[in-house]
Amino acid sequence: MTVTIPRACVIGHPVAHSRSPLLHGYWLRTLGVTGAYERAEVTASEFADFLLGLRQRGYVGANITVPHKQAAFSLVDRRDDTAQAIGAVNAVWYENDQLVGGNTDVYGFLAHLDASIPGWDASARRAVLLGAGGAARAAVHGLLGRALDVALINRTISHARDLAAHFTMRPSVHTFDELPQLLERADLLVNATSLGMAGKPALALDLAPLKQAAIVYDIVYVPLETELLKFARRRGHRTVDGLGMLLHQAVPAFGRWFGVTPRVTPELRSLIEADIRGPIGAA
Ligand code: NAP
Repeated sequence: MTVTIPRACVIGHPVAHSRSPLLHGYWLRTLGVTGAYERAEVTASEFADFLLGLRQRGYVGANITVPHKQAAFSLVDRRDDTAQAIGAVNAVWYENDQLVGGNTDVYGFLAHLDASIPGWDASARRAVLLGAGGAARAAVHGLLGRALDVALINRTISHARDLAAHFTMRPSVHTFDELPQLLERADLLVNATSLGMAGKPALALDLAPLKQAAIVYDIVYVPLETELLKFARRRGHRTVDGLGMLLHQAVPAFGRWFGVTPRVTPELRSLIEADIRGPIGAA
């Protein structure tokens, strides 16, 4: 008799760099769940066929990463409310015979902020958010959902306008020139650009106008502590890093696939930190 175990995978191109197998593998092992999590290197031309045949390939679901998140959005049978709002799918699972697409970045963004600074949103009213890419979209959705006023700043202003137009409660759109005035009133500053990431230009910001009580959240997680976070910490701000968002965003998908809701533990964090500090992460 052939015994089949539930299998999930991360579909991307390239996918070798993905830390999802390490993360989900840790939970499978430590929770004693029978299952497997694999990498699936799939090009854009192969993607539709691969995704639509996921169940036939023996998978209960998958993570979707670069460059397939928009394609997945169009291909699934149904999208959850968050994926619909974001316009991108980063996780899929089956409900009855339907392939459902979700987006767990919003959950990850907020869950890590909530875990790092419990009750932060009781007093926070205004956020300044840098960036207008996929991650910024998730962050905007999360912050608007917590009733914050969001001021969006991006190098390419048309990208920020497009992002803002996507939401009913629109964030305001600004250029980097307006940053000092916006920082004066901000309770939360979020970097959702790729600036400050290893191999990218630095994010050079003057935080002087930012009030002491403001929180600084950088979703970049390589390096583990960005220059922005280092500088903010030295100025006495409460800081939130990007790695926790990565860990938390994996929680809901694991639950969907394997029927157990995992926890983000210090041990898991250490495991991924070691991988980031290692030869691959440092590259
Ligand atoms: P993306 O869609 O490519 O967007 C990149 C953003 O960075 C855009 O707003 C872009 O501005 C801006 N940018 C890039 N180079 C710039 C430069 N030289 N000067 C000014 N702005 C620049 O990327 P993404 O998927 O949103 O990811 C953004 C970052 O978040 C990455 O570092 C990624 O690793 C990180 N991230 C973290 C998590 C997590 O779980 N912690 C999840 C997702 C992403 P333009 O519009 O002007 O090009």
